[in-house]
Amino acid sequence: MAIISRIKPKLSLLHNYQFIIVLLLIIFGLTPAFVLESTILSRYEERAVSNRIVNVRTQADILARGISNSDYLKNPEDNVVNAQLQQLATFYDGRILVVNRDYRVVYDTYDKSTGKYIVSSDVMQSFQGTEYSYHSRSDRYVEMTVPVIVSAGQGDGSGNIRIVGLLVISFSTQSVADSMESIQRSALVVKIILIFCVLGAAVLAGFMLLRPLRTLRRSMEAYNDGLEDVVAETGPREIRGIAEVFNRIAARMKTLDDSRQEFVSNVSHELKTPITSMKVLAESLLSQEDVPVELYKEFMQDIAAEVDRESTIIQDLLEMVRMDRTEVQMNIVPVNINELLEAILKRLAPIAEKSSIELVLYSRCQVVADADEVKLTLALSNFIENGIKYNKENGYVHVTLDADYKSFIVTVEDSGIGIPKEDLGQIFERFFRVDKSHSREIGGTGLGLAIARNAILLHRGSVQVDSEVGKGTTFTIQIPLTYVAPAPQK
Ligand code: ADP
Repeated sequence: MAIISRIKPKLSLLHNYQFIIVLLLIIFGLTPAFVLESTILSRYEERAVSNRIVNVRTQADILARGISNSDYLKNPEDNVVNAQLQQLATFYDGRILVVNRDYRVVYDTYDKSTGKYIVSSDVMQSFQGTEYSYHSRSDRYVEMTVPVIVSAGQGDGSGNIRIVGLLVISFSTQSVADSMESIQRSALVVKIILIFCVLGAAVLAGFMLLRPLRTLRRSMEAYNDGLEDVVAETGPREIRGIAEVFNRIAARMKTLDDSRQEFVSNVSHELKTPITSMKVLAESLLSQEDVPVELYKEFMQDIAAEVDRESTIIQDLLEMVRMDRTEVQMNIVPVNINELLEAILKRLAPIAEKSSIELVLYSRCQVVADADEVKLTLALSNFIENGIKYNKENGYVHVTLDADYKSFIVTVEDSGIGIPKEDLGQIFERFFRVDKSHSREIGGTGLGLAIARNAILLHRGSVQVDSEVGKGTTFTIQIPLTYVAPAPQK
């Protein structure tokens, strides 16, 4: 647990863009410089040492040839050869041992091992003909052997090449290490300057890159505090895109909020009206003395009508709220639309008769469609009921059912009062009524068409309305025969 809690703050840094930008710039800015430096330095060391080995070997080969041509291995007192060996050893800050076939040191430029024997694997392998050189990086020296060769006729006359002696050379690579150190010191200065430059550039780049995001955030905060109406769409394209989307969402939320507020105020008003009427009626009865029974009866009838109205509004509201939910349960079954319409007309016939309105169903074909029977009945009843309600004495409501290969069409045509052109776009809005006072007389909540349209849309259908004031209205409802469920929301 302790480890996790210690790691957590570090991880949270990775959620900080400023930190990530600085980190990436440092990694990509400095790593190549560091890798390059170490590669160049190690290559330099390798080359410097191998050049030195080649030079030493070239000169030692010349000496070895001199030794093989003379009698030196038998008589190592040759001052000229010794002087040359000394000169070569001094020049390369090293030591040369001359070893004969018996592994005996016949000459040592340090004069320490003359007369001693060297029986090491390197020396033995070198006598077998393997060239040997070894560089010790840590101790800064090179050890190598150069063979002294005699060829045919010079030795035992066998015609073969023979190694009769060895020059065992060791020299220091301190000077190479010194120049490496001096280069490393200069590189360190360059590295420090580079680190500061990259750090500065990284912090600046982080600041510059994140500035538009900070501006966007400030603008969003100003919007949230109510200081701005919209978020400023400025800065790079990506940030402008975010601001644009935000503004679109905000505008949609505002429209939703406005309509919700309007809905709440409409609901409150609609629910209050019948209650106010009931209160007025009751108070006027209470304020009078010796009220005749007939007046009581009349007022109580009015109160009962207001109660009915209130309950209708509440019922409609509940229905609408039910259908407004995002996941409305659709109970889709094959429905005989002819029978469904006949049942509706049968139920509404007494109301039509009351106003002497002719209510007729024209079934042009038999239709069975996938539908939610309850919701479809509710929707179609609303259109037909409106046709009867907003009609004239002795008028008509003609309901026609027709179908093509993919949908069925119900037209509800009435000879009623009609709807003014300017109101046609609003009749499906909640609580909208063309003539409030008249509609009140007729009775209605202004929710019927909103509910009906919702139900039609849930069936993936459409509604069209044509109307002429004084002549009548025709609603055309089109619904697919096969129900296609909406794609599930993620
Ligand atoms: P309401 O409960 O008032 O009938 P609706 O939503 O059903 O509410 O209808 C909204 C308004 O549209 C009605 O108040 C009425 O003014 C108008 N309207 C609807 N249907 C018709 C029609 N067939 N003829 C004339 N006007 C209509």
